[in-house]
Amino acid sequence: MSDKPEKFIDENGLRLDGRRVDEIRPMKMEIGVLSRADGSCYLEWGKNKVLAAVYGPRELHPRRMQKADSVLIRYRYNMAAFSVEDRIRPGPSRRSTEISKVSREAFEPVVLTHLYPGAVIDVFAEVLQADAGTRTAAINAASVALADAGIPMKGLVSACAVGKVDGQLVLDLNKPEDNYGDADIPMAMTSDGEITLVQMDGDVTQEEFKQAIEMCKEGCRQIMEIQKETLRNKFTKLDDVEVPDE
Ligand code: ADP
Repeated sequence: MSDKPEKFIDENGLRLDGRRVDEIRPMKMEIGVLSRADGSCYLEWGKNKVLAAVYGPRELHPRRMQKADSVLIRYRYNMAAFSVEDRIRPGPSRRSTEISKVSREAFEPVVLTHLYPGAVIDVFAEVLQADAGTRTAAINAASVALADAGIPMKGLVSACAVGKVDGQLVLDLNKPEDNYGDADIPMAMTSDGEITLVQMDGDVTQEEFKQAIEMCKEGCRQIMEIQKETLRNKFTKLDDVEVPDE
């Protein structure tokens, strides 16, 4: 028997978790949580829990893998074995390899890669608890971790998905909407609205697709505010540190 809900949106326009169609799940972030990484961020978004760590830029070995004119970005998205209800087999899968690839490409347009020829930046995104939208959650955390590591970037990247349930577009899918909805369109974008990742599962019309982009832009704008606030908090705290007299 399927657990598919009869209705995803009630007569008041509210979703199963009480959100409006254009509302994102509550999000909080903490920066600098790992002392051995150059930059890190822990993110909770709804029931998703993700940890991102950034190492580098550092010299890339073996040297034959070095790029003469730019830094190499490596991105590893991984779901912990305990992150979902049924244990996931540890190690890379087709899904995690694909997500790692598209997520790396989501950052390549913003990182000033030409500044560190021959070097590598490693981004690790570990999903500790998964509840739909983990690739976008990981990108949001990785973006802040990259900034925390002091990686020069044109700006932050923010990510969110738009989907379709009961014939309506909804922002930031929850688990039942992701499982049983008619479409899932994760996107990542810069603060200028330049789209650096778009994927699509399911069907939407051209008009709906245009609306989905606009909806996602608004979601990403809100997420970017949270990302900036997280970074601001860290650096304001640093400003408050008293420097002892000589
Ligand atoms: P995303 O997490 O980016 O939305 P998917 O749409 O592929 O990516 O997955 C949706 C959700 O399905 C995940 O967030 C997770 O909760 C669950 N899921 C994904 N892969 C597995 C798996 N191998 N086993 C159990 N649940 C999974």
